Amino acid sequence: MSTASSDLTFTGGGHSRQLTVRRSALARRMRLAVDPRDGAVRLTLPRRAALGPALKWAESQRAWVEQALAKLPTQETLGPGSVIPFEGEPLHIDWHPGGSRVIKREGDRLIVGGPEEMVEARVLRWLRSEAARRLDAETRAAAGRAGVTVGRVRVGDPRSRWGSCSASGDIAYSWRLILMPPAVREATVVHEVAHRLHMHHGPEFHDAVERLLGRAPKAERAWLKAHGAAMHRVGR
Ligand SMILES: [Zn+2]
Repeated sequence: MSTASSDLTFTGGGHSRQLTVRRSALARRMRLAVDPRDGAVRLTLPRRAALGPALKWAESQRAWVEQALAKLPTQETLGPGSVIPFEGEPLHIDWHPGGSRVIKREGDRLIVGGPEEMVEARVLRWLRSEAARRLDAETRAAAGRAGVTVGRVRVGDPRSRWGSCSASGDIAYSWRLILMPPAVREATVVHEVAHRLHMHHGPEFHDAVERLLGRAPKAERAWLKAHGAAMHRVGR
């Protein structure tokens, strides 16, 4: 039996998996399966079957594969070979044991060196620091546009809220916002900054949000409702 990964990626419910192709002397026909334990998507082929048509067939099965992924209750690990969402796009964790320990992003790859058992913690740290850096800059820019001041901006991992604003102007966010499409992060930042104008969720508050954002954050709210829970499974 031989196994190789392919260029096909399936995504459902916050889980992304690259299709792996296995060749087996025992296989009589093509078979596509989603492993219920870890969500691995495997295409098994008879030894001599042509790869091109097989991949095309796997692509035609996308709907049910992604449904199966969406039903997975399991966590999304951050280990070598994992694909995680980053700003709403798949980011592949590319581990090179002998590589540099400084994490580097190259397009849709996150290049990580050093010992395997450290990969998860280091990727997590990188995600949190990316989130902190961008959220701090974006919050201060939005505050400037709104003509308000903000205090400390920090990131944490709260279960129930994506952001919060204290009466003294300190703003806290979930680092998981960095996993989501940038528009969702932007809407969350504007929401918290608008609390520096109004500490409630009344009509004046929503007017301020719309003015600062340039739109009503309807699509972003719908996105959070549909995908927010899945973001909590990343790295747990
Ligand atoms: Zn609020």
